[in-house]
Formats: sequence, structure tokens, C-alpha cells
Amino acid sequence: MVSMRAVTLIAVLGILLGCSSDEPARPVAQSPPKSRSPDVVLISIDTLRADRLGVYGYGKNTSPVIDGFAQEAVLFERHQAQSPLTLPSHTSIFTGRDPDRHGVRSNGTYRLTGAADTMAEVLASQGFTTGAFISANVLNPMFGLDQGFATYAGDFTERGSNVSTPAAATTDRALAWLDGRRSDERLFLFVHYYDPHKPYRAPPRFAFAHPYDAEVAYVDEQIGRLFERLRRDDRFNDALVVITSDHGQSLGEHGVNGHTLVMYQQTLHVPLLLRLPGGAHGGLRISGITRSTDLLPTILHALGVKQALHVDGVDLGPAMSGAAALGERDAYAETLFSEVRALHQRSLVRGRWKLISWYELGPEQRLEAALEQLGAASADRPELQARIPELIKRARSFGADPRQLYDLASDPGEKRNLYTDEPVVAAELEAALIGRKSVAREASTGERHTLSKEMINQLGALGYLITPNR
Ligand SMILES: [Zn+2]
Repeated sequence: MVSMRAVTLIAVLGILLGCSSDEPARPVAQSPPKSRSPDVVLISIDTLRADRLGVYGYGKNTSPVIDGFAQEAVLFERHQAQSPLTLPSHTSIFTGRDPDRHGVRSNGTYRLTGAADTMAEVLASQGFTTGAFISANVLNPMFGLDQGFATYAGDFTERGSNVSTPAAATTDRALAWLDGRRSDERLFLFVHYYDPHKPYRAPPRFAFAHPYDAEVAYVDEQIGRLFERLRRDDRFNDALVVITSDHGQSLGEHGVNGHTLVMYQQTLHVPLLLRLPGGAHGGLRISGITRSTDLLPTILHALGVKQALHVDGVDLGPAMSGAAALGERDAYAETLFSEVRALHQRSLVRGRWKLISWYELGPEQRLEAALEQLGAASADRPELQARIPELIKRARSFGADPRQLYDLASDPGEKRNLYTDEPVVAAELEAALIGRKSVAREASTGERHTLSKEMINQLGALGYLITPNR
């Protein structure tokens, strides 16, 4: 075992937005928004890994619309999601907090409480008309992400098997909502597409060798429909438009097809393209590490919204304008997908390095411990017992190293574990993870959530839940 060298830990408790301004934050009622304030359009393409977009280097023309959009947007080359799970990751986007601070740590079994300040709530308080168009039941309003949205639409049901919505239908809903908007309304439009998530069923006109690529191309087309409409409504040019994703997908790398328990870059490196009003700094590419938690402070700063919020992310505005380089920051991620704690994992990216740490295991423990625990946990759980063979297969595919250190610069595929070869780096990153424990429960805005049997079955059908709530 590596002896831990003394490392000074600085607990980053978040930044206070707007403190440096001369102008104090004022409630909306006394401060009606300026008529020229831009609309905000946030598009999240579920399960989209960055490297399957042309503008991130993919050569199969999956994303002509997004590639064109990149010419008037700022592209972030090393953008990291904070969880490979849909609900925790979207909660990080909306609250600017890491999952161990917003407290929504898995799908289905947690929800965001009213104590959280979300992007939609802040923008609603600034006079924006807020609308969300959701494509999967995993973001059902019962999990709390609807707060701040006047409209939060999707196929939310506890019955029936239709639990995700194809991109065209979600786009139709967003366009119908736009039909009802007055030209003087300032909009916050959130569109969530789900198609790159399994099952793959893009319309047959998208002919690609891999069905995942076909789904990406399908969503790309639908984003084109949305943008065309925003242009026709004369909203696009002045709008702040963001395209990102909640997590990627392992497509066979590391022996895995999926994302829920996967902490490699195939699931955590996601796209971020941010178009400032007027397309300012369009075409700029920023190579420093950015995180989903940076989106909330960045969007609010870009809009000139002065509101004090405690977030883990930082404003990317100075980096986009060239006023300041991105400093070195850690990108944290975690998956608490299963109630089987031995399968929990956390990761930290710092500069070129990335540590993946199995949550509850010491370095001396091996995969067998996880499998043992899995077996014990399922003794009285027939629904889990039935999934054990699949879970064991999945767990084994991650290899037997509960501590993994990779040099992303020389080994982007994360194939050479340098944990024992680079003990100082490993110790520093591990200390940073351990140091997080002191803030883990502080200011949590998530709480455990009890699900109905029908919801458990539906989320289970999507591959999300291993075990229901006890
Ligand atoms: Zn997702």
C-alpha cells in the first residue's frame, strides 16, 4: 500500500456569485428584466459521448447541425460530467453542485428538495418564461428537477411501457410551446433528448454502421428543426444556446456496453458547446478542464444575473473572452448506481491525471469482496438475485483494480493503470477524494425517495435500478 504523503487539503466550498459587483442583487418585482435580455436555450442530449460528434473529431458525419453550430459557439474540449447517471448529472447541471453536495446521488431513489436553487428557479425569478421538454421518465417531476419550470412536459407515467420519447415528438412539444409565446417573453427553454440511450431505434433513414451513431444523427437533425424555428422567430441570434450531455456511453471499450457503473472517459467526457448572444467568440476551442457544475455560474454571469448562489462550478466567461485562462481545477464524478456499496465508484480528473476509486474498498481489497457483498445483499431480494449473473459479468469487466490511475495525455484510452508507478500523484488525488468526505453531507439538497412498484419496474426496464429502495 502506498504511504500517504502529507497533503494540504483545501475544501472548496463553492464560490459566491455576484459578490464583487457594486450592484446588489434585487428581487424581480423591483427589477423587471431588460427587454433586450437574451433567451436561454439549454439542450441536453442524454448518453452522448463527445467523441461521436464531428466537431470533436469523429469522421462519420453524425452531427452536421452541431458541427455548423460550433462555428458560432465556444467549444470546450475537455468537458467532464459529474456522474454517469442521468438524474444526478442533470442535477449538477441545474444546481452547479457536485452530486455529493447536491445530494441526488442515484436515479430513482433520490430527489432534489425545494431547498435547492436551480437554474430554472433563478431564471424564473428574473422574469424568464421557463419550459422543459423531457424525453425520459428518469427525469420524472417526482424527482424534483421540475422546480422553477412553468412547463415541464414529457411522457411521465407510472403505467405502461412507453417511458421514453423519441426526439421528433419532444421537438414537436417544444415547437408547440414556442407557438404560444409572445415575442416579448424572454424564454428559458430546456430540451432533453434521449435517443442515444438504449434501445437504439433511430428512423431507418439514418444509415450508420453503428446504431448509436444513427441515434446521434437523428437528434442532430431534430436540433436543426429547433434552431430553424428559433431563427424564424428571430430569437436565435440574440440567444445564449448550450448543447451538452449528462454522460456518455461505453460502446465496447473496457468490455462494457453501458454507462451506469462506468467511470472511464467514454461515459464522463461529454460535449459542451456554448453560443453566446450574437455568436461572440464563435469557433473558439478551450482545452482546459470544465465541468457540468460550471454551466450555472457561466450562464448567470453571461446574462448579468446577480444572485448569490453556492456552487462548486466557476464562471467560464473570462476564459471565453480571453480575459483569463482556466485555472487548474478538479473534475469530480461518482456513481452510486447500486445500493451495493462495493460497486460505488468515484473519480477525479486533475490536469492530465485521472483517479478512479472504488468507493468502499481499500486498495488491498479485490473484486471478490464486491461480488461477495453483492451475493449477501441479494439473499432476500429475488429481483436482485435474478440480475446477479449479469451484474457479476459487468463488474468483472471493469477489471480487478479498485484503485486506478491513468495519464489521460499519453493514455486517453485508460489502458495502463499507473497507480503503483506514480505513488505521489495517486496519493494526492486520493487525498483530494478522501478530503471530500467532510463536506459530503453539508448543504445537501437531495433526499431519499420511495418509489412505487410500477416506477421501479419502469426504471428497471430502462436499466437504471439494480435494487429498489428498502
Ligand atoms: Zn442519461
